[in-house]
Amino acid sequence: MDCNIGVISGDGIGPEIVAEAKKVLDRVGSKYGHKFNYTEILMGGCSIDATGVPLTDEAIETALNSDAVLMGSIGGNTATSPWYKLAPELRPEAGLLKLRKALNLFANLRPAYLYEELAAACPLRADIIGDGFDMMIMRELTGGLYFGARETKEVDGVMTATDTLTYNEEEIRRIAKRGFDIAMKRRKKVTSVDKANVLDSSRLWRMVVEEVATDYPEVKYEHMLVDNCAMQLVKDPKQFDVILTENMFGDILSDEASMVTGSIGMLSSASLNDTKFGLYEPSGGSAPDIAGKGIANPIATILSAAMMLRYSFDLDKEADAIEAAVKQVLKEGYRTIDIMPQPGESIEGITQVGTAQMGDLIAERV
Ligand code: NAD
Repeated sequence: MDCNIGVISGDGIGPEIVAEAKKVLDRVGSKYGHKFNYTEILMGGCSIDATGVPLTDEAIETALNSDAVLMGSIGGNTATSPWYKLAPELRPEAGLLKLRKALNLFANLRPAYLYEELAAACPLRADIIGDGFDMMIMRELTGGLYFGARETKEVDGVMTATDTLTYNEEEIRRIAKRGFDIAMKRRKKVTSVDKANVLDSSRLWRMVVEEVATDYPEVKYEHMLVDNCAMQLVKDPKQFDVILTENMFGDILSDEASMVTGSIGMLSSASLNDTKFGLYEPSGGSAPDIAGKGIANPIATILSAAMMLRYSFDLDKEADAIEAAVKQVLKEGYRTIDIMPQPGESIEGITQVGTAQMGDLIAERV
């Protein structure tokens, strides 16, 4: 297969971690007979330095012409970088928002997977962790409360603020379909999260999800109220496979779910539209505090590349091979600095490695 990948290396540790993901992809390519063609796309601070804006129209065009986009991270030190003295629409992050909009990326996917070897980083009790958990949060990204009409005004002499939560059935249907499609590639269970006991938008959500579910007879689905879901995530995370939810609930629940897995350097993510196209990036930022030191953890970016193979290119076997290689490297005791054992934990059999060595180790085991 020939895959055209737009690559946003970005700022800070971005270029370092993207280089390792490309190394692993190239290994997959030579082993399984695929060709990955990369086209660099300037976005963020590096684009500001080169062109004066965080994302040019040509850069958007290149992204639109790619089969998928793999991204490192963008942005700098928000306290000291001159990029943050610019007007908000000219700052690095404005580039990412513009790109998400241009590509109509309405579905955000964030896996929360607990590696047995990193269980000590999980704040939950051992009996709750059991033999680990593996869930995917599917969050609607372009509707709901964050995009509704809002205003703050004085009403009868009292300052009053209003935010509007609107969803139409089409917005719900397209994200629900994505959620069930993803479940078909996993353990075939969807937990749809809403607040249907209070909100009209949630009652419509529930109705449309039920209708979509009839097209996926193999997928077991359930509804769960968001307050209960927040509790269940720390009480029994193993019960979840795909959590399907609207924008604000997903914002909160995905951070909760990722926290219970430990390090930010391990968390991949994908943003999808209604084609096979996706933007794949680690959940962390550009980590200016460690940029250029060769110590950043490239695993989240490598796992984002695996998601790209699975969801944009339907290369499930190849994605499995990357995920298995990551597990193997952790099992062999290799760690970047951010996932080293905490003080007081045993370091027997553990070897600290840098960014490039971690990439090499994973590529070798694909
Ligand atoms: P950050 O995620 O960059 O860093 C938080 C902490 O986590 C730091 O101590 C950092 O060293 C560590 N960390 C992050 N990724 C790591 C990795 N792969 N390996 C090891 N350690 C890692 O968050 P921040 O410091 O709040 O933000 C820095 C910049 O990144 C800001 O400009 C912010 O706007 C930007 N940012 C960009 C994105 C994105 O590109 N999508 C996301 C979040 C933040």
